[in-house]
Amino acid sequence: MENMDEVIHNIETILCSERPRLLCLCTRLAGDAHIAEDLVQETLLEAWKHLEGLREPEKISAWLSGIARNVYLRWARKQGRQQEQSLQLQTEADESLNVLEETLADDFDMEVELERKELAELLDRAMDLLPPETRASLLERYVRESSLSEVASLMGVNVHTASMRLKRGTLALRRVLTDEFKLETETYAPNENAEWTQLALWCHHCGQQRMLGKLDPVQGDLYLKCLTCCPRPNDYVSWNTGIKFLEGLKTFKPALSRLDKWASNYYRTALREGSVTCIDCDHPVPLNFGIPTETSSWVRQRNAIVIDLLCNHCGSRCHTCIDTLAFNLPEVQDFRRRYPRIRLLPPRQIEAEGVPALVATCESITSAARIEVVATRERFDVLNIYGG
Ligand SMILES: [Zn+2]
Ligand SMILES: [Zn+2]
Ligand SMILES: [Zn+2]
Repeated sequence: MENMDEVIHNIETILCSERPRLLCLCTRLAGDAHIAEDLVQETLLEAWKHLEGLREPEKISAWLSGIARNVYLRWARKQGRQQEQSLQLQTEADESLNVLEETLADDFDMEVELERKELAELLDRAMDLLPPETRASLLERYVRESSLSEVASLMGVNVHTASMRLKRGTLALRRVLTDEFKLETETYAPNENAEWTQLALWCHHCGQQRMLGKLDPVQGDLYLKCLTCCPRPNDYVSWNTGIKFLEGLKTFKPALSRLDKWASNYYRTALREGSVTCIDCDHPVPLNFGIPTETSSWVRQRNAIVIDLLCNHCGSRCHTCIDTLAFNLPEVQDFRRRYPRIRLLPPRQIEAEGVPALVATCESITSAARIEVVATRERFDVLNIYGG
């Protein structure tokens, strides 16, 4: 819980620092910068109301993106409803049109007011717990969105004192959130509603289990899990959220094959060009190697070279062990068709044809068959393939 406390103490810094990234995401989703501003505002308010739902503070970016997508979907649905209703309206006679319009206007106002009212109530309850100057600082900072130094000068105190007041204030807010909003806190966990499905596909890392899959065609999410390789709740063989080209796909086969093709092309381009166009925001993402902290435990244990593509502009991130690119070679795909249960051994580092190289070995679980791919360590350019 220490981590969680830390995050809540620093809520003002974190939420502010996430703003540009969320703006980028919402602009992409809504296709309009002004609407995106509203969506981000709402996202940050939602996040603030549901802070207790953040179960893993180090995943705050993913958590916020999830909220932003929900906010966007709600907005999009409302747009759809409004368009539908205005289409219906056009077919009505003139006199009933006015009546209908008034009714609709009332409905929509009620919906907006309800959310404003919820927020206002929350603030009131929390504010009652606070000394007047702390309360004023919080209002200035979060409702009027003044900077920390602006708050300090308005209160006639130095930045340090202002920051202490805000911290005390957020602690008090947290007490209210914990007491009154416990029931709402589960809402924003990723894929809460989707179910794990048993797939025919064997785990290609260990060959011990058939994989479990989770697919969310609305969010564009696809998760794969193997119970042997992924002992921790947040370990995945593959974890993809908010992928545009997965939206609408309701079965695993087409989703997986699209994902494989896309991933191989994405990482190959990065290796070849030194950068690749971000899947979320179209800005260039530099090629980088290293293991991201939020990765699954099996990635860490494999002792492999990991390609880590982090977009500095929108925070979107993809990573993979470089030797798994072997799976997209036709020879290896053919091997896997003949031997569906294989395991990928940890890569061996050797020297081949005078350059540092890697050996990626797939071996059959049910027979002695194996295929070895020798490729350059730097870009995984294939030098040789043995066996198969
Ligand atoms: Zn496995
Ligand atoms: Zn961007
Ligand atoms: Zn990006």
